[in-house]
Amino acid sequence: AFDVLVIGGGPAGAAAAIYAARKGIRTGIAAERFGGQVLDTMAIENFISVEHTEGPKMATALEQHVRHYDVDIMNLQRAQKLIPASEPGGLIEVQLANGASLKSRSVVISTGARWRQMNVPGEDQFRNKGVAYCPHCDGPLFKGKRVAVIGGGNSGVEAAIDLTGIVSHVTLIEFDSQLRADDVLQRKLRSLDNVTVVTSGQTTEVIGDGQKVTALVYRDRIGGDSHRVELEGVFVQIGLLPNSEWLKGTLALSPRGEIEVDHYGRTSVPGVFAAGDVTTVPYKQIVIAMGEGSKAALSAFDHLIRTSAP
Ligand code: FAD
Repeated sequence: AFDVLVIGGGPAGAAAAIYAARKGIRTGIAAERFGGQVLDTMAIENFISVEHTEGPKMATALEQHVRHYDVDIMNLQRAQKLIPASEPGGLIEVQLANGASLKSRSVVISTGARWRQMNVPGEDQFRNKGVAYCPHCDGPLFKGKRVAVIGGGNSGVEAAIDLTGIVSHVTLIEFDSQLRADDVLQRKLRSLDNVTVVTSGQTTEVIGDGQKVTALVYRDRIGGDSHRVELEGVFVQIGLLPNSEWLKGTLALSPRGEIEVDHYGRTSVPGVFAAGDVTTVPYKQIVIAMGEGSKAALSAFDHLIRTSAP
């Protein structure tokens, strides 16, 4: 059995595995795809102390750093069930999709999240070529350009307000007949002069020149006619889905499906910790996920020294 078993191999999981292994305890990490969302990222310019790097490069560095320690790496393994210990300090079981079962005295869950996609033509083709999901990450790439934000909930309206300070113009497109963001955000948005708000608009296509995005087409859901907006960027803000479906009914999740954690990264199940985008911790970013992963591993270690026989 492991002392610390990490589920998920993104920035949070890699940090947790390194912090645990440095305590000299038996550490394992099982991940469906080592590297996580970082693998899908092009430029990373907000990883503090590194001015610029690229996702695949960082993913390789994450794995190399973990391999530097005595960590049992199980890549391409999907966890599908967690069974809490039957007694305090007992073994926690994680069942994998391949039928294997892993046992550990503590578990750190860092299975991350995924952005909900529009599923319209052009979205995949121009991903990272104008189609973006993270305004904190990619906003500055569109300095002085025209962009659209898809989604009028809190994250969409926050993104639009944020982007108005960087880009020349923002078109916010909401599917519903009204924005769903908090009033205070909507008031702020409407006070800005470089924003156009479209409600009852359904994005139907992202258009590009083969290299990058040049326009977006949306359908007016009331009139039925289509409109074309010339622009350079599209920020999709229709939801971030935590990869926590496999934990429903096992530990406490927020209404959005995020794992509820306290300041120590503890979940509702003793000995089970969580970190990164899959948790309720706000602002989904690499530096934050790494800090949270480190914290969860230290908490797991603390749990071990308190529950082990003297
Ligand atoms: P993830 O990176 O999502 O990793 C989750 C891990 O868990 C993966 O290994 C996955 O395969 C695994 N997993 C999932 N389910 C299971 C399961 N059931 N069993 C086993 N393993 C599982 N952040 C920045 O700070 N700067 C940026 O410039 C930036 N740009 C981004 C660009 C894009 C296109 C995207 C999508 C995100 C970007 N982010 C950026 C956000 C950043 O990537 C995330 O905040 C960060 O990767 C979260 O780390 P994590 O370890 O919590 O989760």
